Amino acid sequence: MPDNLSTSVQYLKSVGPKRAEAFSKIGINTVRDLLFYFPTKYLDRSNILNSVKVVQYLINGYEGEVTILGKVVSNDLIRYGRKQIFKVRMKDNAGFFECVWFQGVKYFKDVFNEGDHFAISAKPVLTKYGNLQFAHPDFDRITENESKEFLNTGKIIPFYRIKKELRSTNLGDFSIRKIIHQAVETFSGQIRETLPAHILEEQKINTLSEAVHNIHFPETQQKLDDSLYRMKFEELFYFECLVALRKIFIKQKRKGAAFKIHSEPLKKFLSSLPFKLTNAQLKVLGEIRRDLESNQPMNRLLQGDVGSGKTIVALISMLIVALNGYQSVIMAPTEILADQHYKRILKMVEQLGIKVSCLIGGQKKSGREQALLDIRNGETQIIIGTHALIEENVEYYKLGLAVIDEQHRFGVVQRTKLIRKGIQPDVLVMTATPIPRTLSMTIYGDLDVSVIDEMPINRKPVKTVLRGESKLPDVYNFIRDKAKEGYQTFLVYPLVEESEKLELKAAETHFKEIKEFYLPDLKIGLIHGRMNWQQKENVMFDFAQKKFDVLVSTTVIEVGIDIPDANIIVINDAFRFGLSQLHQLRGRVGRSDKQAYCVLITKDEFAVKTNQYSFNFEYLSPEQIEKHKTIIRLNAMLKYNSGFDLAEVDLKLRGPGDLFGTKQSGLPELKFADVMNDFDLLSKARDAAFKIIEHDPSLTGEKNFIVRKTLKENFSESILFSQTA
Ligand code: ADP
Ligand code: MG
Repeated sequence: MPDNLSTSVQYLKSVGPKRAEAFSKIGINTVRDLLFYFPTKYLDRSNILNSVKVVQYLINGYEGEVTILGKVVSNDLIRYGRKQIFKVRMKDNAGFFECVWFQGVKYFKDVFNEGDHFAISAKPVLTKYGNLQFAHPDFDRITENESKEFLNTGKIIPFYRIKKELRSTNLGDFSIRKIIHQAVETFSGQIRETLPAHILEEQKINTLSEAVHNIHFPETQQKLDDSLYRMKFEELFYFECLVALRKIFIKQKRKGAAFKIHSEPLKKFLSSLPFKLTNAQLKVLGEIRRDLESNQPMNRLLQGDVGSGKTIVALISMLIVALNGYQSVIMAPTEILADQHYKRILKMVEQLGIKVSCLIGGQKKSGREQALLDIRNGETQIIIGTHALIEENVEYYKLGLAVIDEQHRFGVVQRTKLIRKGIQPDVLVMTATPIPRTLSMTIYGDLDVSVIDEMPINRKPVKTVLRGESKLPDVYNFIRDKAKEGYQTFLVYPLVEESEKLELKAAETHFKEIKEFYLPDLKIGLIHGRMNWQQKENVMFDFAQKKFDVLVSTTVIEVGIDIPDANIIVINDAFRFGLSQLHQLRGRVGRSDKQAYCVLITKDEFAVKTNQYSFNFEYLSPEQIEKHKTIIRLNAMLKYNSGFDLAEVDLKLRGPGDLFGTKQSGLPELKFADVMNDFDLLSKARDAAFKIIEHDPSLTGEKNFIVRKTLKENFSESILFSQTA
């Protein structure tokens, strides 16, 4: 048998061609693959009790799960009328207990044979006959030896996921354990290290070979923990190496032109604005200006709450670039937002002789071709659009600055595509979503950060109220009264229906109801997602021109739309929205010095005020938890106006799960680490990675050879890596 890690698993004892084929179906071909097929759980000695202890626990009122080991003494299929119960009597070193199944009895009957040993986990009960019983327990088959070893030496027993391909070759818990054991004993010593020696030493962590050995067959819990730690560290370390490489790569690429600041036209532009910039806007502009003036490309994240005035900051940056003879783009997530930027910017920069193009999907062909031509020939300096801007047929004359609006709607992939359109354009990424620290260390870890932490003066906080559906007549009266004072209202309905036809129908039904029954004396408009952007744009234009008092809308208005005279937003079925969405929607109003209102409408049962912010849901049913969370969410909207506070509540309510979303962001997947729970480790890994990359960005130093090699072998596909190659 060949003695290296590329050996086919077929040559391991008790594998053979048939099982090798089954392994191959789940992606395991070589011994190396098998060594990296890690257990999904362990039999943990600290939780194991014997049957007498369990009974004592129960008598003392214990209500949790326990794990217990035992040997099958007998099994019976019992008939009760039409129903069948499968009952297994088992025995451990202290006494007897039983397991019962009410469903799937035939399957279990074949599993639990007399004399077999099992580990059983479940909530125990005492039957009325005083028997210790487990109903529908989790179970794992173990060998008699394992059972003894486990009890006597405290060995920890691994369990592997056995997919159906493997099961069909009669592979079970102990046979797979035996095969992997053999592989680990024979081969794990040959696994080559993937972290440099100085890191192992500094961080006091195990070698890869030790770690693999101990993750499969840990001698002690401590060794298992240390080994898992090592795997997490390694993952996060390489992740951060990619982030660091990208950051340094972008910084170090010298580019020809550092932009000059042409003060005269800029001053003229600033004095033409109807307002003065806030100090926060000025501070951020100073940071951007320094980046533009330097010959290192800018790579900056501009964070500012909804309505803080990010667009004007972007526009001034684009002007600086235009006055140097370069082009800028601003990419928006939706067509109406792009269109809104286009109209406004066009009006504002015309006086300076700067030309603007617009690229939006579904544009008229002739207009689009003209735009493409103007962009290619350098006729236009500011280009505004949606992701149409990054399509292949778009060629820029001289792209100097790329602005990405509402970045949370785009992934790293789009960002990278846009950056590739220029030689090394400056990049400004804008978002209203507060970025938790974990993310600013990972997906956004290569960006410098600027924050607009102040709202334009004379903005009053939006007054937010919560109303049950039974109060809707009052709400309509309020809208009507305010319309007399010139207030305009967004009346928002969530999308409930998936299908386009139904969505359209729902929107039209609401529109009709409002127009004919509830507010027949007001002028009502309608906008929804099934309109093409020109239609949407017409409606928004009419609304801005005050042709309607009320705009019935689906969530198409969610992001970025700016209509200063619309000062009331009524959100129907508010319980259906997440907090960040509610905050974005509310951000559509309160954009002038008049008092603005946000009315959240929900089922009456959710229209409850609470000051309770307990996030402990342990004793509630799933429905109760949902209701509780909904009430907290809605109350958070009443209590907080800032996106940062709301994001914090959101994080607590939702848990870290879906925030990170590495898969769609094009980043390497993490198997061991979890950036939320392993935050300290993430910081450590980041420090270690940045130290290395900053000292030796090309990784040519002898002691970093391993880092270079590992990156190349494992991450050459990663979008981050391709940015640096
Ligand atoms: P966001 O940061 O959410 O993108 P916008 O850039 O759309 O916000 O700005 C919101 C509104 O505030 C716009 O109508 C804009 O003209 C206005 N605005 C921006 N800066 C100021 C300022 N310094 N003073 C007053 N109004 C401002
Ligand atoms: Mg905006």
